[in-house]
Amino acid sequence: MNTVSADPQLAEPYLLGWLASLGLDVDYVRAEGNTLYYLGESGEEIPVLDFAGGYGSLILGHNHPEITEYAQRLIASQTPVHAQFSRHPYANDVAVALNRILQRELGTDENYSAIFANTGAEAVEAAVKHAELDRGLRLAELRSRLAENLAAARAAVAGGAAVAAEAYRLVGVEAGDGAEGFEALAAEIERRNAEQTGRPPVLLTLEGGFHGKLVGSVQLTHNEGYRAPFAALATPARFIPAGSAQALKAVLESERATVFDLVVEDGTVSVAERNSPVFCAFVLEPIQGEGGIRVLSDEFAQEIQRACAEVDCPVIVDEVQSGMGRSGDFLASSAMGLRGDYYALAKSLGGGIAKTSVMLTRQSRYRSEFELVHSSTFAKDAFSCSISRKVLEILEADDGAAYRTVRERGEKLLGMLEAVRADFPDVVKDVRGRGLMLGLEFHDQSGSGSETIREAAPLLGYSVAGYLMREHRIRTFPTASAVNTLRFEPSLYLTDAEIEQLDGGLRGACVLFRTHDGAGLTGT
Ligand code: PMP
Repeated sequence: MNTVSADPQLAEPYLLGWLASLGLDVDYVRAEGNTLYYLGESGEEIPVLDFAGGYGSLILGHNHPEITEYAQRLIASQTPVHAQFSRHPYANDVAVALNRILQRELGTDENYSAIFANTGAEAVEAAVKHAELDRGLRLAELRSRLAENLAAARAAVAGGAAVAAEAYRLVGVEAGDGAEGFEALAAEIERRNAEQTGRPPVLLTLEGGFHGKLVGSVQLTHNEGYRAPFAALATPARFIPAGSAQALKAVLESERATVFDLVVEDGTVSVAERNSPVFCAFVLEPIQGEGGIRVLSDEFAQEIQRACAEVDCPVIVDEVQSGMGRSGDFLASSAMGLRGDYYALAKSLGGGIAKTSVMLTRQSRYRSEFELVHSSTFAKDAFSCSISRKVLEILEADDGAAYRTVRERGEKLLGMLEAVRADFPDVVKDVRGRGLMLGLEFHDQSGSGSETIREAAPLLGYSVAGYLMREHRIRTFPTASAVNTLRFEPSLYLTDAEIEQLDGGLRGACVLFRTHDGAGLTGT
């Protein structure tokens, strides 16, 4: 039962109307664990089993008792929530706790510096901004080294040093004599170096990826519908097909920038070609969430790492959805043997209550100047940080029992999804994912014998979501950029009974597709 207000609908009424057409415009009044409640006709609570899990922000479920109790204590004790520009031990506690976990998973003792933000997209953008600041500083260092070496070469030529014939050939300048020849060479080198070091930054990312919808991050999000209308606002990214080492190599080669450096050795001036830092960052999800729950292969993840190291391109690992234990490890990428220069974490970091995110930068890349040019009113507040620390404590308790539970529950849920696929191979195309980040992809239904199903085919997952809600009181949604794939991201407290309930719902949907029962799907 939805309470209908007499007030005008001013908060995204178009979206609400669309949800209503699918029977998904439910007014939830309470939430606990994996269950949301709405009110029935006589005011009774009706439970809905939630597999959307706040799109992955609820690894500990709705209103985890330890977190809500702690949140209440923080508020009751008048914790100063907004005290910018003061000491912030609570933020440091989170950074220290995160470092302990990262260092364990990555097998390193290098620290990662933490910059807090509020949302996933913001953490991604903070990482990109930091990478660009770092690139700019590396460019400045390169320019000044080139200028110093040019001055040294000029002085050497004035003192009688010779210019190697090979130097003229490499730079593409006709060989000349003495100072005059050198100045022609130097002018061409300076012109070309200015062109190369002035090139715009190259951002690399994967096809199918999703990194947010803000002005910058949406250009890293592959879905054209989200990205294209705003393409003129920010640097466009180069999209690489996930899994193609060849495409990766080709893009790195085609985007590479080099400069000419002058070297004086044994009375001879020669030219060396060096890389110019044109690559800002490679941004990737170890498990693509919105792209349809697609796990990157270990080989490709490591190939990216290797190839990026060769051209000194930092890797930003977006663990906004896959991190915080959801994959069965704290970082999905650590299990792949991938080590990021940056990590973005959000969603479950806030324990289902706080809105918070963090961007972590490895020490060897970190530029402390960033702290003076990036901030947000709400980031690093005491409430969110305290909640985050609590979340990390819960995940880490009993020697990581939570991660073991995610793996065990994930296997059980995956087993059920695979059994559904085995029984309905004509309906279910694929089942995939890791831990409690799982997806089930339906075959395209645009050739269904039912006109209703054919019409529903372009947004198939939403119709299945409507059916599951209406007939089975199950809430889930397709992934944002792959609408034939339903996502399952429950909390680690998932029970066998809840898995069974989903089993019933999915089998019900499969029967509808198999029997071309459009009325059964839409409830009309
Ligand atoms: N990165 C990834 C991998 C995500 O899944 C999301 C959200 N689905 C984001 C970034 C953006 O996070 P937010 O919605 O908090 O801005």
